[in-house]
Amino acid sequence: MSRCGRFLRHCAALVAMVLCAMQAYGGDLGKAEMAARFPPPLQVGDKLADIPAWPITSELEPDAGPVAYAFESIDLAPIPGFEGTPFNLLIAIDRKGSYLGVEVLRQHEPVFLSGLGEGPLNDFVRQYAGKSLLQQISVASIYGSAKRSSDDKRVVLDGVSKATASIRIVNQTVLTAALAVARARLAFAAPTQHGPPAVVRADVYEALDFAALVKGGYVGRLSLRNDEIEALFADSDGAGQDAEGLAAPAEIGVDFYVGYLNAPTIGRALLGEGMYDYLMRNLQPGQQAYWVATAGRLALVDERFVRGTPPQRLALTQDQAPYEARDLDLELVAPAGAPRFNSLLAVQIPPMSGLDPGQVAQFGLTLARSRGAILPLVTERTVSLDYAPPAALLRYPPKPLPEWLLAWQDRARDLAIIGVALALLAVVLARPRWVAVSARRLRIFRLSFLAFTLVFIGWYGQGQLSVVQITGAIKSLNAGQGLGSFLYDPISLLLIAFTALSFFVWGRGTFCGWLCPFGALQEFVALAGQRLGVRARRLPARLAQVLDRGRYLILAALVGAALWAPRLAEQLVEIEPFKTAITVGFDRSWPFVAYALTLLVLSAVYYKFFCRFLCPLGAAITLGGRLRLPAWLKRRAECGQPCQTCRHRCAYDAIEPTGTINYDNCFQCLDCVGIYHDDQRCAPLILYRRKGRSVVDGRLARKPV
Ligand code: SF4
Ligand code: SF4
Repeated sequence: MSRCGRFLRHCAALVAMVLCAMQAYGGDLGKAEMAARFPPPLQVGDKLADIPAWPITSELEPDAGPVAYAFESIDLAPIPGFEGTPFNLLIAIDRKGSYLGVEVLRQHEPVFLSGLGEGPLNDFVRQYAGKSLLQQISVASIYGSAKRSSDDKRVVLDGVSKATASIRIVNQTVLTAALAVARARLAFAAPTQHGPPAVVRADVYEALDFAALVKGGYVGRLSLRNDEIEALFADSDGAGQDAEGLAAPAEIGVDFYVGYLNAPTIGRALLGEGMYDYLMRNLQPGQQAYWVATAGRLALVDERFVRGTPPQRLALTQDQAPYEARDLDLELVAPAGAPRFNSLLAVQIPPMSGLDPGQVAQFGLTLARSRGAILPLVTERTVSLDYAPPAALLRYPPKPLPEWLLAWQDRARDLAIIGVALALLAVVLARPRWVAVSARRLRIFRLSFLAFTLVFIGWYGQGQLSVVQITGAIKSLNAGQGLGSFLYDPISLLLIAFTALSFFVWGRGTFCGWLCPFGALQEFVALAGQRLGVRARRLPARLAQVLDRGRYLILAALVGAALWAPRLAEQLVEIEPFKTAITVGFDRSWPFVAYALTLLVLSAVYYKFFCRFLCPLGAAITLGGRLRLPAWLKRRAECGQPCQTCRHRCAYDAIEPTGTINYDNCFQCLDCVGIYHDDQRCAPLILYRRKGRSVVDGRLARKPV
């Protein structure tokens, strides 16, 4: 191929990459691709104008309208994943709000790209089929601290080990997108500030007569005298049009009653046993029914009322949202002791409307007056009865926690353990002398802590911080998304917060020296190498200085790629062996495993080779560490001139020949702190001791002994 041809090919690839990045947050599928997924007798209609969803009809039910809706989550819930890019899932729900299926169209989560592969993710989303939006769907804790089990109302899906944060984001994405469509097309209720609707306590029943029902608030009553009704129509065309009412102003014009039928105490008393049982059998799950009646001269319905339709004079609202109350067409008999009703109905509210029987609802009764005989002028006034059954008849389910908060709940025990470990580390770094002065004590503490970091934080807790979090944050912010996805990974967030604070006090080494699982693994490999007789080598200082710039260059390349070539960034982050060695525990294809093992072997020869010369996260943390306020590692006047003890003992080459500490390279191993305080190892102290001066806590005593 000619140079010109190669150039054009590269240009085309670049344009394709840019276009891909530009359409990163748009839907992927056209009508033909949708039709291929929903073959006859199903038919895919045109994408809806009001909400990005495809209506699906069935040739078997030609008049039924859409039997399902399919939609891409990226259009409705572009929640950034761990890597900063939202998932795109194809979701289909039927007209009752049950999931027909979920398919992964596009995802960029590092753990599913080449770590675990997409298999576990596909297995996870398959679990949605058959579940309902009316159920509370959550993901099982793989950590065992918060147990949840499935029942009619709640479903617990199996999670994916090593990908907990990503899976929670998938669940949130599915629920958010599906609810948006259900609210727009299936009359699902919008969220209220009260949490889920209250449910009836079937175990609470008390036999009460009608008078007791009214007196106890079980049945609500609004009673209006004729003069009160007349006052409603004052200064209107309806004023003075009720001669009968004007003749007896103090008499009751209308008595309006409402009762909540689902509650056994109310329903059995108002309907009788048989009718109540019949009604409960025929209501759908979560559906509410009310008993409404009027007595007096004015009535809720008249002889023109068509059974099975919503009564025109009845209006129901709650939190200012209107609800349709439709006649259940039941033949009711007034309960014993009740007044003589002129209207008596049982009405139902649509099942997924979200009306909460535990909250006060407004039952409006419209009163109408007409003036004139041929073309009568009708004036209407609505009176409202505020009603909620007694709280003792209901149970109030707690508001479901958002998915990210469930993640914190699940990890509460692990967070507590890590919190204690961080507190301990903070105390040791704040007062390092006691631990460091004894080389044995320091070794035991340091190796124990590093083992905890590797095993508990890394392999078990999946808390390995990574440069992916930096590139992901850049991508999210660049796409106008927030950083909310960090909330789904509480352990990482805790470590990020602690590390950020440590920048100001101790600098870079707190994370790199104590809290990085891969860093800890390198130390253990180096230790094993020593035991096996591998001779540790040091690069010439000049060469080390030059190579040290490598990690900053890699970090700059990654930041640039995250900004301008997100797909490229996904490849470049593989420079980190963290996913291979820590996230999936070497369970990955051989080139990745070989790369990680090579770095580990190298670290046995050149101590912390990856950390010192390649790690982009370490570079970013080093830059953060420059916020450090105090120079907290103590030095003596003799350090560097002439004493070079610490410098030679520092395995990280973090002490300059002048004796000053290069905090950019210091991993806070505390070896030099121990030497500083030890009159057996610190050369100036040894000298003082030989001269007969006592040394107390690493300082010279005031007077010679
Ligand atoms: S330099 Fe990188 S690998 Fe090394 S300890 Fe720091 S973050 Fe971990
Ligand atoms: S010995 Fe080196 S790495 Fe360890 S604390 Fe001292 S300067 Fe830092």
